[in-house]
Amino acid sequence: MTETTTPCRVCGEAITPDRAATCDNCQEPFHLRTRQDQDGDDCGNVWINDQYLSLEFVCNVCLGKAGEEPAIGEAH
Ligand SMILES: [Zn+2]
Ligand SMILES: [Zn+2]
Repeated sequence: MTETTTPCRVCGEAITPDRAATCDNCQEPFHLRTRQDQDGDDCGNVWINDQYLSLEFVCNVCLGKAGEEPAIGEAH
């Protein structure tokens, strides 16, 4: 098995080039729809920085939405 694609940090699935984004916080790749007609779930978010007018990409892990199990009832 050869893996030439980098897995998404959030969901662990391979990322196709047309869905790839890099988190500006952790520098890891994640899924993001780059066109509105694409189906599927995004693994992060993007918005325009008002100050620099640049796109900021942040994965769901850094947003605190995914990748971490709820700590409730965690046993050691
Ligand atoms: Zn993903
Ligand atoms: Zn991140």
